[in-house]
Amino acid sequence: MTNADILRIRADFPALNQDVNGKPLVYLDNGATTQKPQVVIDALAHYYAYDNSNVHRGAHTLSDRATQAFEGARVTLQQFLNAKKSEEIVWTRGTTESINLVASTWGRQNLTAGDEILVTGMEHHSNIVPWQMLCEQTGSKLRPIPVKENGELDMDAFATMLSDKVKLVSVVHVSNALGTINPVETIIKMAHEVGAKVLVDGAQAVSHWNVDVQALGVDFYAFSGHKLFGPTGIGVLYGKEDLLNAMPPYQGGGEMIAHCSFEKTTYNVLPYKFEAGTPNIAGAIGLAAAIDYLNTLDRVALAKHEDSLLLKANELAEQLGDIRRIGTAAKKASVFSFLLANAHPGDVGTLLDQQGIAVRTGHHCAMPLMDQYAIPGTVRASFSFYNTLDDVERLFTGLEKAKMFLL
Ligand code: PMP
Repeated sequence: MTNADILRIRADFPALNQDVNGKPLVYLDNGATTQKPQVVIDALAHYYAYDNSNVHRGAHTLSDRATQAFEGARVTLQQFLNAKKSEEIVWTRGTTESINLVASTWGRQNLTAGDEILVTGMEHHSNIVPWQMLCEQTGSKLRPIPVKENGELDMDAFATMLSDKVKLVSVVHVSNALGTINPVETIIKMAHEVGAKVLVDGAQAVSHWNVDVQALGVDFYAFSGHKLFGPTGIGVLYGKEDLLNAMPPYQGGGEMIAHCSFEKTTYNVLPYKFEAGTPNIAGAIGLAAAIDYLNTLDRVALAKHEDSLLLKANELAEQLGDIRRIGTAAKKASVFSFLLANAHPGDVGTLLDQQGIAVRTGHHCAMPLMDQYAIPGTVRASFSFYNTLDDVERLFTGLEKAKMFLL
């Protein structure tokens, strides 16, 4: 990928082309949410301008069009994840709701007192709290797999924690706070050997490379559209068909029933059983537009470009000094999490913002991990493929200024 290639791709994202606080925007908060290409914005506008209608039940042309676009989007997602069937793709509001869905349905049905759920010590709160709530209800136990100082998972410890008490292993594919890429293939194999199911939180993975759920053999895979260049308020839960079929419904309401009477209500088939109420039609269509757009790009080459951005950040950090990197795993996505000497991350973030540089600061919804490092939080620059080497240089010029001011 040449710089010219990246600049061409970058031009597809209107939000990147603006001044913030008098400087050209450098957007390095992609872990929080990604910017949207014009084609996604156009797909949303087109839907609302011409096809807006409720799906599935309408006896008119607009409803047919909306239904076709909405169900077509499901097929796009199925192909994107290489799921066997489109019925295995359940629309949710995002990663958080996908995990809560599994906890509330599969979890309540399959866990009892004495059972164990394993997560990692680097989870986002959305892959901790739903399991804690489930454990309170069922008497099961939540156990964190330890994280080593460099941000890698302690796989030896994981091996010793596995037993037939473990019913679920729920792990983050890529840590949002550290960038660590976890060895989910190995984790899934090891968990399956003791009969446990595996949920992977893919919120931070899908924006970097294509995930193949069949090749992984994963039982549940969750992610959010807004971190994948799509709209907010739409997400996906992939689940293996037999598991989803055996699970009770999540919420009750319209669309999820086969027949409703006061005597007995029966439930709809997959995936509608889990989709009560009017869904986020525009969101699904917008997310499919994002995936169609990604399919026009060379994602392997773009992932290499992202690696080169991280490499550059590491080099410039060496030159700048006074940087403590948090998370130095051998396999990392393009997340640069750090502390600038003893400066508070929030102060560093404010000084960068004044220079038009957007980063995230704080605990990144991973408080247990921050506690492990005994820090209140970090400054996190998370790169996407539309970032340039120039963006990385601007970050470090900004940090140089912050350093003069704060240290
Ligand atoms: N898991 C991870 C690893 C995340 O980074 C995030 C978002 N920061 C979530 C889960 C939650 O995603 P959402 O808020 O879109 O539901």
